[in-house]
Amino acid sequence: MKRALPFLLLLSLLSGCAPEPVSQSFFAMDTVMSVTLYDGGDTDALVAAQQEVNRLDQLWSRTRPESDVSRLNAAAGSGTPVEVDPDTAALLEQADRAARESGMAFDPVMAPVMDAWGFGATGSESTAVHRVPSQAELDALLPLTRDLPRVEGTAVSLPLAGQAVDLGGIAKGAAAGHVLEVLTGHGVGSAIIDLGGNITALGEKPDGSPFRVMVKDPRDSEGGICVLSLADGATCSTSGGYERYFEADGRVYHHIIDPSTGYPARSGLLSVTVVSQDPYWADAWSTALFVLGAEEALDLWREGPETVQAMELILVEESGRVLVTEGLEEGLEFLGEEAGYTCEIVRR
Ligand code: AMP
Ligand code: MG
Repeated sequence: MKRALPFLLLLSLLSGCAPEPVSQSFFAMDTVMSVTLYDGGDTDALVAAQQEVNRLDQLWSRTRPESDVSRLNAAAGSGTPVEVDPDTAALLEQADRAARESGMAFDPVMAPVMDAWGFGATGSESTAVHRVPSQAELDALLPLTRDLPRVEGTAVSLPLAGQAVDLGGIAKGAAAGHVLEVLTGHGVGSAIIDLGGNITALGEKPDGSPFRVMVKDPRDSEGGICVLSLADGATCSTSGGYERYFEADGRVYHHIIDPSTGYPARSGLLSVTVVSQDPYWADAWSTALFVLGAEEALDLWREGPETVQAMELILVEESGRVLVTEGLEEGLEFLGEEAGYTCEIVRR
């Protein structure tokens, strides 16, 4: 591809049109990711972006024994802090803030509960045994949640034995922030970063118009519920029960757990999409707002923490109502009508 690039550039110059996009797909953090450059393409930038995601995956994985997260989890309750990479410490601090601001709807120490459901460590999904844990089992595990990691510089500890961190609800957003920096550092001015459904726009399309992204229909993996414009630097992150689930005794159990019950969240929502200038918050809050439900999500958007007030939301309710906050109205193309959804714009 590297050798083909000058040729492609030459072709596009001669023909006067925008250069061909160049794209790289890879598997990391237990999901498919891709980075696409629209402004001429620098394959070094693509390689560097993938390397950066792999580096972070090695720090934050729960299955690699030498990762920061595995070492932290192994030392839980020992009283001895673990030295972690500055990027891990920064992520844990962001997770701490998301946990506190969401009233613990976002809880980064839910790993023992996730494991009980078989939604185990990132990377082990294919071998995980999904099961419905007994109430007694959950009652024994819930006291291990909510007590957040202590972070002092790069020294981190978990206060209770048996505790474990799971950063699955924020790691992809964090990785998007890192990739954005890598691409900008390589002089890339126009790109789409898609890290397992967390989509970040860098710049605009070569014709100067904003990038357009589709939000999935949570009931139909092939279909879309709407298409929206994504401004420069914005991330669109979607959380939904449809992304990972199993069925038992005629019921569906999904991977987003309500920390107050230890059960998959049942808040009346099928999915939550957050659009934010901050990729960390887009990811963490899409998970948290899915737990909290539409009413509380909109209350927080109207008068909650600044981070949430600055976001725009798409809340897809089980009833078929799709609530879209007003900042997304311009450029919104609603696709859900045929599938029985109705769209409502929510004002401040
Ligand atoms: P997302 O796809 O970003 O909504 O993240 C879902 C992932 O976050 C799950 O697979 C778990 O790893 C983790 N998770 C599940 N429930 C929670 C929660 N209440 N707070 C924080 N992380 C969670
Ligand atoms: Mg998330």
